Amino acid sequence: MAKVIAVSNQKGGVGKTTTCVNLAAYVALGGKKVLLVDTDPQGNASSSLGFFDRKDKNSLYEVLCNDMVAKDAIRACEVENLFLLPASSDLAGAELELAQVVIGRERVLEEKIAEVKDVYDYIFIDCPPSLGLLTVNALAASNGVIVPIQSEYFALEGLSQMMNTIKLVKKFLNPTIEVEGVVLTLYDNRSKLSKGVTEEIEKLFGSKVFSTKIPRNVRLAEAPSYGKPVVLYDRKCAGAKAYESLAEEFIRKIK
Ligand code: ATP
Ligand code: MG
Repeated sequence: MAKVIAVSNQKGGVGKTTTCVNLAAYVALGGKKVLLVDTDPQGNASSSLGFFDRKDKNSLYEVLCNDMVAKDAIRACEVENLFLLPASSDLAGAELELAQVVIGRERVLEEKIAEVKDVYDYIFIDCPPSLGLLTVNALAASNGVIVPIQSEYFALEGLSQMMNTIKLVKKFLNPTIEVEGVVLTLYDNRSKLSKGVTEEIEKLFGSKVFSTKIPRNVRLAEAPSYGKPVVLYDRKCAGAKAYESLAEEFIRKIK
């Protein structure tokens, strides 16, 4: 049965999608069968894996709102063992459509993922930068959360709101959900600021902070425009090595 992990932080541009895509790719290369679910209407994870069709009619939107079975929207990626349930631009409307559902609107994704849970070892969910119904659906469906945090000033801004949402989801929807890990992204080991932020985060989250830190690396930012995870774009760059090491740490710690 798959372990379901949401990659979430309502702060924008902190490396959620970069982390979700590259962690999923390296975990798949580690021999695990992996599904990535793109719950962000921006569809960045989908395009990062080579699925650029924003008008795709076999996507998460149809699964959540038109009762398509998850299996029919899932495709194989270029990386062996890695599969994607993509987001199209229609997903932006799902937030409103789900809001109209009278009973169980927070659990639609959980129900849909249950159909395919026995097929995968891990399911990663890339969340949008908001705490709306799509994120709540992702958290309700997950066993754990990975929170990417940018090692810069304002990193802690909004974090208490995020932790409060997880607390509410735990109380009302998903009693066993836990923050499984915190990943420091866009890390600069020469900067005092990065070190200071890391200390603050370690005080808050202790051993949940992954010892692998993700450096700022331009190859990580370039790879998505080629529709490839970094391993297929430049597997020797510092960013690739960091995500490879994060995946090893992840598989060791999170079973
Ligand atoms: P959003 O909140 O919009 O979904 P996000 O949290 O998913 O954003 P990303 O899309 O992963 O963040 O990253 C934001 C931008 O920073 C992207 O252009 C991405 O390519 C770039 N980026 C992410 N991580 C790194 C890194 N370690 N080094 C260099 N650039 C990075
Ligand atoms: Mg994103």
